[in-house]
Amino acid sequence: MKILVINAGSSSLKYQLYDMTDESVMAKGLVERIGMDSSILTHKPTGKEEVTEVSDILEHTTAIRKVLDKLTDKVHGVLESIDEIDAVGHRVVHGGEAFKSSALITGEVKSEIRRLFDLAPLHNPPSMMGITAAEANLPNVPHTVVFDTAFHQTMPEKAYLYAIPKVLYKKHKVRRYGFHGTSHAYVSKAAAEFLNRPIEDLKIITCHIGNGASLTAVKDGVSVDTSMGMTPLEGLIMGTRSGDLDPAIVPFVMNKEELTINEVNSMLNKHSGLLAISGASSDMRDITDGMAAGEPNATLAFEMYEYRLRKYIGSYAAAMNGVDVIVFTAGVGENSAVVREKVCENLTYLGVEIDKALNQVRSGDPRRISTPNSKVEVLVVPTNEELVIARDTLRIVNEMK
Ligand code: AMP
Repeated sequence: MKILVINAGSSSLKYQLYDMTDESVMAKGLVERIGMDSSILTHKPTGKEEVTEVSDILEHTTAIRKVLDKLTDKVHGVLESIDEIDAVGHRVVHGGEAFKSSALITGEVKSEIRRLFDLAPLHNPPSMMGITAAEANLPNVPHTVVFDTAFHQTMPEKAYLYAIPKVLYKKHKVRRYGFHGTSHAYVSKAAAEFLNRPIEDLKIITCHIGNGASLTAVKDGVSVDTSMGMTPLEGLIMGTRSGDLDPAIVPFVMNKEELTINEVNSMLNKHSGLLAISGASSDMRDITDGMAAGEPNATLAFEMYEYRLRKYIGSYAAAMNGVDVIVFTAGVGENSAVVREKVCENLTYLGVEIDKALNQVRSGDPRRISTPNSKVEVLVVPTNEELVIARDTLRIVNEMK
């Protein structure tokens, strides 16, 4: 079975085509600058040369048509015809309380995703554009949807409710949802498989630290707490997002600086985090380079980032009354040995001990970086959200038979 995975943003669209007989990637790529002039399509067929094409792609339907053209292209293609695509899996960020797992897309599912626009105004509308566009181009195959929030629907009330008037939850569904669920689910399962232990016996803290960043406490194989909240702003310090802060700062700053709701939202989401503290960059590579060069603002940004991350690990160890495994994943987690080292250096009270040489090893496979004496297994597990989407799609399609 061949499955096309689509991750649509407002001006971009990522895709991967899987052959599910061996879960191999046949081709992947990205369309950028949709709706602007000089849109760029980058197509990487496995075993063939990468190709880049610049043209004006005004909306998502054209973007998908161009992708399908590339997938069936005589030179750069990997398919004889688009009829070889058996199903399409879509990523949608917010599934609210309605979606506790992935789903086959139906009219009702689409209406529910639209009802959730309110909760995720930046993320769900572009995903919906991707779905509509893909359905228009591939009307005869099943389409499925995989939600970033679904894995966290197992959180207990004490973890997902905010201590604010309950009417806000009843009327507007103000609660914590958590994000990156596909990644947390994948790496926690992969960690248990790597250790050859049943996931039900493990207390795992998964650290998905990339541009966006969140931690999850996984107990008995399910999410019991996670650091992102109603939106992906809560929790850790991120590239451009503040993470946790005193909510009273919002009205205070709005008043003092005469900011609108949109402006303060933009400040906290796009102009805060590592970027704001370092005054230079949101990219951890620049921060660690700056720190190595003795740059004080980069050093402070790193220290604040690492401190928040370590505090959250401690709080999740407390939430689960212990931790057996800590997993690092995503851009920073998979690549930054110095972040992992500094965090683990201060977790000795939990019995964490990492092997500094193993921590420097680079590999695309799951690996252990803790010593044999460490009481907690510390692993680096590359995430693969697209593969989860393809696997869930395969499962849903098989269940339809
Ligand atoms: P992601 O959102 O998972 O794609 O992660 C992207 C982020 O990972 C980038 O913005 C960088 O901050 C970080 N990153 C990528 N490569 C490295 C690296 N070699 N060292 C440190 N951070 C990295």
